Amino acid sequence: MAGSAPEPPSSTEHKLRERVKELECLFEVSRALRRVDSGLEPALARIVEVITGGFQYPEHAAARIRLGTACRQTAGFVETAFRLSSPINLPNGPGSVDVCYPAEISNIDPDPFLPEEVPLLEKIAGEIALAAASLRSAEQNARLEAQLRHADRLATIGVLAAGVAHELNEPLSRVLGFAQLAQKTPDLPPGAARDIGRIVDASLHAREIVQKLLAFGRRAPAQSVDCDMDQLAAGALDFLEPRCRAAGVEVRRELARRRLTVRADPTELRQVIVNLVVNAVHAMPGGGRLTVRVQEEEESCLLVVEDTGVGMTPEVLDRIFIPFFTTKDGGRGTGLGLPLVHGIVTSLGGTVSVQSTVGAGSRFTVRLPLDPAQGEEPRR
Ligand code: ADP
Ligand code: MG
Repeated sequence: MAGSAPEPPSSTEHKLRERVKELECLFEVSRALRRVDSGLEPALARIVEVITGGFQYPEHAAARIRLGTACRQTAGFVETAFRLSSPINLPNGPGSVDVCYPAEISNIDPDPFLPEEVPLLEKIAGEIALAAASLRSAEQNARLEAQLRHADRLATIGVLAAGVAHELNEPLSRVLGFAQLAQKTPDLPPGAARDIGRIVDASLHAREIVQKLLAFGRRAPAQSVDCDMDQLAAGALDFLEPRCRAAGVEVRRELARRRLTVRADPTELRQVIVNLVVNAVHAMPGGGRLTVRVQEEEESCLLVVEDTGVGMTPEVLDRIFIPFFTTKDGGRGTGLGLPLVHGIVTSLGGTVSVQSTVGAGSRFTVRLPLDPAQGEEPRR
């Protein structure tokens, strides 16, 4: 291979020395990759400095590692004709490890790479790919764990809230019942009648909250029947559209126009739609456009409610499913709409996801499993 190396490359001593250099290089590489929990960058910075040590002319060699958008190289790295390259095979984008010699290396050796240096570079690229992949799966695990913790916390709060609601339900019914009874007293002085009216209104409002809480804490759906999501959405929109128009909101229906069967309680599904639509309308105080879409996607029924409203900051987005979280002032918001939506959807084995941009709008996507027994239905 090499022509005029300082000592004959065929000599056993030379070969052994090269082998030791390669092993030392590999050892340093795997040492750098041992602690990648805090990210791959520091490891790559270290590796790029030790790679050249494994090659025949370390003092002349330069190295570069490219991985996705990251790029690390030794000082003075230039791509030349004297280059050895090995791809880093990763699903999330191409990468490579390169070692180059300057053109002048030909004065020392016109063929500066040894045959063993090809598998050496491949091995280094393989080690980096492995570390990157394991880092990625560790990150995915951490994300999943955080989601689980969040769901768990919501469930705990739900049980607590439902317990309190249950306790309040009884005395509240009595307050309401007796106030309504008192209203019927003949010849009530006007002041007393007005005050009793206020008690009735306030207890009705409280009862609504309690009922939402009870619904939120309930794990199993009240009933489970075949519901046509498309038709339910159309029905809910018939009811809501006049309210939307009055608020200056244009409603765009993008319905599937065919039966999409979900096993659920229709009242609960309506609650999901109404809550999302009412929130969307609230988010567009100056009017805007509301889009409601129902579509089939991979054995799921998607319900998408999208607005061109105020949007949410990441801090708000983080808390919207927590009971009683509201950014609306007294009377308008209870902070129970989205927790209820979340409770209903998850009890049906579905998911709710949200995308939002401040000043541009929000999109709520509810994904519910389609009833597998549903046959192909003709378009309506
Ligand atoms: P409420 O409507 O009573 O405030 P929700 O649980 O329905 O309670 O919603 C919680 C909060 O989430 C709202 O107060 C609001 O800040 C935010 N939110 C919900 N939907 C939207 C939306 N479409 N656009 C902007 N913010 C929203
Ligand atoms: Mg709401």
